[in-house]
Amino acid sequence: MAIDLVSRAEWGARAPRGSYSRLTSTKGVKVHYTGGRVDPAIVDDHARCVAVVKSIQSFHMDGNGWMDIGYSMIACPHRKVFVGRGPHNLPAANGSGLNSGHYAVLGLVGNSGLVEPPDGVLHAILDAVDYLRAQGGAGKEIKGHRDGYSTDCPGAALYAWVKKGAPRPGGGGQEPDPETTPKWPGRLLKYPPIMRGDDVRDWQRQIARLGYTIEVDGAYGPESKAVCVRFQKDRKLDPDGVVGKLTWDAAFTPLP
Ligand SMILES: [Zn+2]
Ligand SMILES: [Zn+2]
Repeated sequence: MAIDLVSRAEWGARAPRGSYSRLTSTKGVKVHYTGGRVDPAIVDDHARCVAVVKSIQSFHMDGNGWMDIGYSMIACPHRKVFVGRGPHNLPAANGSGLNSGHYAVLGLVGNSGLVEPPDGVLHAILDAVDYLRAQGGAGKEIKGHRDGYSTDCPGAALYAWVKKGAPRPGGGGQEPDPETTPKWPGRLLKYPPIMRGDDVRDWQRQIARLGYTIEVDGAYGPESKAVCVRFQKDRKLDPDGVVGKLTWDAAFTPLP
């Protein structure tokens, strides 16, 4: 799957207050978290991700006095990657003297609220790493901000993932695992009227596991339909709010 970039124009970035120091290459990438509270509602609303990134830029420029947001790229739960300073530009977030060694990628999780990174964040971080390798001469290291700098960043959850070698969620397979994937029930799950059944519950449970907010009650009503539409949009499926075979299988298929 190609990287889903959010350009600076798309997220409404302010212009940098000067010109960036150029980097030819780096040893790799350091992973960050926000260090503050991240509202879990961002998982259901990408517009909130945009607002968070804009507020971080303002904090870095107006609070820290930096020329721009400190991060090279920012990864959100919708597997979208915001362009911060971008490839070949010196970041500011790693700490004095450490920025020329590694690009800085922020995962949109914090130390309260949204703490556990949804799969979309992990995929987006890795999409950013791939992009910085291809476009910015990033080397193969993936480290945490706390490596070589005194900080809690990137938090326990992201750091544990970094220490495991930053694996793609779902083991990298694109096919649903027949051992663990419930078969499509053969009926369309849709609303109205409300449909009930174990198949509805299986689908809701899986969607919740993917980070969507949904009540796992075995009843496919307006809430399930709305979440389904969001899921379908995220996976670039026809957003009709009906769980057919494609939507069912997509929910049980790890992102590549
Ligand atoms: Zn950090
Ligand atoms: Zn988002």
